[in-house]
Amino acid sequence: MKILLSILMVVLLTAASFAQTKAPSESAMDRFLRYVKIDTQSAEDQPAPPSTKKQLDLARLLEKELKDLSVQNVRISKWGIVYGMVPGNLADNGKVPTIGFIAHMDTSPSVSGANVNVIVHKNYQGGDIVLPNDKTQVITAAQNPDLKNLIRDDVITADGTTLLGSDDKSGCAEVMTMIDILRNNPQIKHGNIAVAFTPDEEVGGGIDKFDIEGWGAKFAYTVDGEQLGDISNETWSARTATVTFHGKNTHPGTAKGIMINSMYAAGDFLGNFPDNAPNRPETTEKRVGFVHPYSSTLSEETSSIKILIRDFDLSGVAAKEELLKQIVAKTQAKYPNVKIDYESKLGYLNMKEVLKNYPQLTDYAIEATKRAGLTPEIRPIRGGTDGSNLTARGLPTPNLFTGGHNFHGKLEFNSRKGLEKSTETLVNLVQIWAEKSKK
Ligand SMILES: [Zn+2]
Repeated sequence: MKILLSILMVVLLTAASFAQTKAPSESAMDRFLRYVKIDTQSAEDQPAPPSTKKQLDLARLLEKELKDLSVQNVRISKWGIVYGMVPGNLADNGKVPTIGFIAHMDTSPSVSGANVNVIVHKNYQGGDIVLPNDKTQVITAAQNPDLKNLIRDDVITADGTTLLGSDDKSGCAEVMTMIDILRNNPQIKHGNIAVAFTPDEEVGGGIDKFDIEGWGAKFAYTVDGEQLGDISNETWSARTATVTFHGKNTHPGTAKGIMINSMYAAGDFLGNFPDNAPNRPETTEKRVGFVHPYSSTLSEETSSIKILIRDFDLSGVAAKEELLKQIVAKTQAKYPNVKIDYESKLGYLNMKEVLKNYPQLTDYAIEATKRAGLTPEIRPIRGGTDGSNLTARGLPTPNLFTGGHNFHGKLEFNSRKGLEKSTETLVNLVQIWAEKSKK
């Protein structure tokens, strides 16, 4: 009982303390509504980031806002990445590791992000939300169970003709508002904070140009997740296998006894995939990995098939590779004249393989989420993130929620509470790092 009471006191005190903080000069919501008006759609298959010049419109605005908030060392790299450093306000900032926050500026190439017409559904009362300019676009309560947590909140959507851009302008607005709150509240103690806004997350390539050393963070978080409370410290471990079938081509008119058509062996190989095992993307979810043939070239002389191998555990990846090799062996036995090569290469590693050595990154994020009155949920990502790239390069970087939903589509939404609670969590997080590291 005593313990319960003291927990209650801590909860009440921390809740009260955030309520007492001085408001930012601009709310997370107002910032967000400004950012989504700027078209930052990225494009596939461009030679170098930023893939579209219009992303620089937002980059330059964020650069100016960082400077206005007295952030130091603000710069835009030639790749369109915006960097800055918020100095700590501790007696000895050196005792607390520099923590980084990253949000991406671009929106998905799959749906237009031009002329976003934002609709704020004030004091949402539950039920389906029909988007006014295309009434076939409906955010249904049935398919969006989190909507029931947003009753009396202000829900933010586009008008049904574009995406909203919550992914990831929510993250941009939340990181910027965190800086604003810290500036207005010097009583909130924190170490040095590195911030960055990146282009081309949706098309890949932007993060390859990220200057980890110049930025200065020891640990970082991407602010690019979804539902309030969701924290991700796991991604797939990914390998790509290529199976090549070598036959022998000759003119079909004089091919008797000479031609060895590799296509039959390739077809046999695919036909040997069991219906249910190994698992396929279309039959799996949650923590279950898969193998997935996704592209091929076929001709008499040479055929090849590319296969994605995905699992959260390296042992699972190894087991799937073993299975593929067994299928290769079976086909090889049936087609001894076709030489079959198997090779595979690493795509990226589950960030957990690194993050397990730094449990405090996740623990402090959980604590920060709880202090914001939210329920933390650890959710593995069935894919990779910019954080997987950074983690593999030596900067451990899990992913935090933004309050957004339905990324990359016209049904995207966030809410006032989503933006504000995510921002509050970031403010809590930098305090927690300062509290825990000083000892
Ligand atoms: Zn994103």
